[in-house]
Amino acid sequence: MIKRFIMLGAPGVGKGTQANKLADDFEWKHISTGDMLREAMRKDNPVGRQVKGYVDRGDLVPDDLMIQLVMNRLEEDDCRHGFLLDGFPRTVLQAKKLDTFLHDSGHDLDGVISIEIPNEEIVKRLSQRLVCKDCGHMMKGNDSPAKEMVCPLCKGIVTKRIDDEPDTIRHRLKVYEERTQSLIEYYQSKNLYIRIDGMDSIDGVYRRIIHALGIS
Ligand code: AMP
Repeated sequence: MIKRFIMLGAPGVGKGTQANKLADDFEWKHISTGDMLREAMRKDNPVGRQVKGYVDRGDLVPDDLMIQLVMNRLEEDDCRHGFLLDGFPRTVLQAKKLDTFLHDSGHDLDGVISIEIPNEEIVKRLSQRLVCKDCGHMMKGNDSPAKEMVCPLCKGIVTKRIDDEPDTIRHRLKVYEERTQSLIEYYQSKNLYIRIDGMDSIDGVYRRIIHALGIS
């Protein structure tokens, strides 16, 4: 079952977690642009150095760079059985370029899964989120950075994402409202928009997605 989906939703709604589960169960490739950028930053390669300021501040990386990165990625072999894009598109220009790219390669989008939760819950979730400095694995913690926690996957150092500080979280939510929310109308007009209430457990939200997509 080759499928091409977008996961839409503000930072912290659980897009990445749900995309990972879907990717495991259905063998679609999970492509998280945030993960791609953070990996480039960890490697300190030219892309990483170019995007670091934007990512740390919670601003959007310029469209032309993001579009080039994602189009190159989608051309790779592992995307041909389907993909779940998480964190892209974030602007209408990115969405239009993605449409053209898919159209030119003879494909269509199957749906846009938009997970929605209230902003207060987002701030709470993100301020409790921890990340492994070495492998990028995300974990739930508490408001203060964990001192002795090590990553359960690689034993790396656990810390907080710089962009998960409360002021930056609020800025990212503002950027989402200003730049990304218009994508809801864009995809509604194409009949692709699937709204999912994200106020539930991970498994509960997953069941809602599976039900809404009519798959199992
Ligand atoms: P995320 O992990 O999806 O919250 O992304 C973290 C950060 O990466 C964002 O706050 C942006 O700075 C940057 N980013 C990720 N995806 C995009 C995109 N599609 N367009 C522009 N910037 C992006």
